[in-house]
Amino acid sequence: MPDISIEILCGQTTQHLSAIDQRHAMHPEALAAYQNMQAAAEKDGIDLALASSFRDFSRQLAIFSGKANGNIAVKDQANQVVPLSELSDWQKLQAILLFSALPGTSRHHWGTDIDVYQPSALGQNQLQLEPWEYQKGGPFVQLSEWLGDNSKSFGFYLPYDQYRGGVAEEPWHLSYYPVSEQYQAQLTIERYIKVIQELHLPLKKTIVSHIEEIFQRYVTNVGRFEH
Ligand SMILES: [Zn+2]
Repeated sequence: MPDISIEILCGQTTQHLSAIDQRHAMHPEALAAYQNMQAAAEKDGIDLALASSFRDFSRQLAIFSGKANGNIAVKDQANQVVPLSELSDWQKLQAILLFSALPGTSRHHWGTDIDVYQPSALGQNQLQLEPWEYQKGGPFVQLSEWLGDNSKSFGFYLPYDQYRGGVAEEPWHLSYYPVSEQYQAQLTIERYIKVIQELHLPLKKTIVSHIEEIFQRYVTNVGRFEH
């Protein structure tokens, strides 16, 4: 396949996307597959909805910087706030990367990856995007089971189905494999380093000096689509 531009891979353009509404945009192939899956879910009584779809580079940079600068709380897998000021820069970076990607490496930049939930199952509660909501006893257990049985036939899978030493488990995050596998293959360290070197962001030195481990643990370390 031809080279995908680094602007597309890093969320610095929307030229590869179709807008859905004011809040959401997706890659057109992923969107068509999502809409088919949504219609199938509806037939089974499940209202599938988007919590998040495309996210651009500047938004990811704002999230990352907010956490690194202490303006947004950083939590651990037990949902406890991490005391960042007590940590080394590398420890800080790892604590942030558990839930928030480095700007330019979020799969949400591609328009192929979405966070989904089921509005009717929430009732009066706020959506948290925490694993318990999708597990036994949580509001979205039926949705999770349905996705487990059906998402694959629409080309979707869970890249963060379990904790692998990098990104935390995210049972709400679906990826449209036919496009995302190509984008993932094209986002190499060499291409990404050029992006980060032109950027002003907190922890930059630590990011650059650990970039290989960051890629290995947080970027390419995802579940496989089972054919
Ligand atoms: Zn996500």
